[in-house]
Amino acid sequence: MENLFKEVKNYLRYLKELGISEVPYAQEWKNLFQIESFYSQETFETLKERVLNCKDCALHRIRKRPIWGDGNPEALLMLITEYPDREEDFYERPLVGMVGEFLKKMFLSIKLTWEHFFITHTVKCKTPGGRPPEPEEIQACKKYLLKQIKLLKPKLILALGFTPVKVFLEHKVIFSHIRGQVFNFQESMIVFTYHPNYIFKNPSARRLIWEDFQKFKKLYEEIFKNS
Ligand code: SF4
Repeated sequence: MENLFKEVKNYLRYLKELGISEVPYAQEWKNLFQIESFYSQETFETLKERVLNCKDCALHRIRKRPIWGDGNPEALLMLITEYPDREEDFYERPLVGMVGEFLKKMFLSIKLTWEHFFITHTVKCKTPGGRPPEPEEIQACKKYLLKQIKLLKPKLILALGFTPVKVFLEHKVIFSHIRGQVFNFQESMIVFTYHPNYIFKNPSARRLIWEDFQKFKKLYEEIFKNS
């Protein structure tokens, strides 16, 4: 929807440059722009309401409830994970159980806690059998993550696993090549690293996630040293 508005605006700007100051429009267009103005006034609470009632892709049929997020809604740091597993779906919170405990320890080691973050999923509903989300499911859901970022304006984002990459990097990448690197997205910087579930299955990758956390800590200290 946002892309459509951008295209219409660009077209109107183009007409204006040609000296055309008025265009006839249908009532439907007026309604659309009223919707845009509604969305541009959106708050965290109204967005949350939209997410919790969303049926924009097939995953709504099997989830218990979409998972909005957790942690500090005014945080300057954001933690983005993949998609809810059975346990997260049951507790209606991201990063519970062993995964949450592992991450809390990793954050403590770099002197951060859950309260420093707003935590959310890339795709807000669980998938059948825990399979990775399909491209169309990511496409349908990414508007919520992007809006969360727009409203929160985090300075620094830590993204876990392969799913967030599909939202932020449009070209195909090899994860092991981009993990631990810093990418700019709007006003934020993002570091990608492995999801703890990958580490549990591949213990040799523990050293890599450790390195990425050290990189994240260094960036955090550089950004916040004067605040
Ligand atoms: S995954 Fe996202 S787009 Fe699909 S139903 Fe859930 S909240 Fe809506």
